[in-house]
Amino acid sequence: MKAIVYNNPWDISIEEREEPLITSPDEVIVAISATGICGTDLSIVSGEYAARQRVIIGHESAGVIVASGSNALHWKEGDRVIIDPTYYCGECSHCRKGLRNHCLKKATTEAGVSIDGTFTSYFKTTSRFIYPLNDGIPFEQGAMSEPLSCVLTAVKKLAVNPFMRTAILGGGPIGLLFYLALSQHGLRNGTIYEASKDRIKLIEQRGILQGDWKLEPEFIPEKNQFDLIIDTTGSLLEKSVQAIADGGKISLMGLRNNQQTINPREIADRSISIIGSIDSQDTFKHATDLINSGSLGLEKIITNQYQLSDFSKALKDLGCDLQKKQRSNEIASLKSVILI
Ligand SMILES: [Zn+2]
Ligand SMILES: [Zn+2]
Repeated sequence: MKAIVYNNPWDISIEEREEPLITSPDEVIVAISATGICGTDLSIVSGEYAARQRVIIGHESAGVIVASGSNALHWKEGDRVIIDPTYYCGECSHCRKGLRNHCLKKATTEAGVSIDGTFTSYFKTTSRFIYPLNDGIPFEQGAMSEPLSCVLTAVKKLAVNPFMRTAILGGGPIGLLFYLALSQHGLRNGTIYEASKDRIKLIEQRGILQGDWKLEPEFIPEKNQFDLIIDTTGSLLEKSVQAIADGGKISLMGLRNNQQTINPREIADRSISIIGSIDSQDTFKHATDLINSGSLGLEKIITNQYQLSDFSKALKDLGCDLQKKQRSNEIASLKSVILI
């Protein structure tokens, strides 16, 4: 089977790999139909996020069961499924206190990062990491479960309410999924700040924002401006502290290495909460249920679809240019999906 393999920063290749086989009774093999390109994939390719050399990347996926072990009784050949790529053991000290997204075995079990992922034809997992995908819901929407689940985990920690004046920093797929998730929680207005003119155009063209949500090109913080700030860029904490109201919450979800200076006295004195969140913790079913409802409008966010052989072009359309070895704000897609 053909696979997208990460070699080194800015160096990926399409290679032939062996198809997986069932080797224990609770395993299933999924023929991948769609895998979304995630910001994490871009960070891996550009060397900002460490991945194992020679790993098959890709982790946001949906497909069809083609084989199941003797204990995977809930699943049969032909079932349409969504894959939860974030393995947890259930037994380590983190798992047992509920921090399954920080399973101590995670460093060696992350699909598309430390073990082979889903930018390929077949993927082996176990039955507890599989969820049904309804007939009539396209595979590319099923593939959005993983990022949506991560967003729902963050939103759960924020205990939002509709009175919060809200800003989302970054109008990429994660920012837009936050918009959808917060709308589900009754937040009918807010502001999304997005620096890329191309992205702003796409969001406007596709009529993504409903209600009183606004789109602004530049985040210029003002005092006491917002009660809730979601920073999906990973680089606007200082500005967020300037704009957050007393008692406000700042959510950090972008994986970008940088240093920022904040004053602990101010955090204490103004009762500010800074809340980080990674991966999903008990929200995967919620995400798949929302996607299976077909009512989220994900078709507006998934703008581009590609074949596996066009992977470099797909990266370039997301502002990640393998030839020039640089990332930019020249973006021709919101969410891109590889159809396999
Ligand atoms: Zn992802
Ligand atoms: Zn564990």
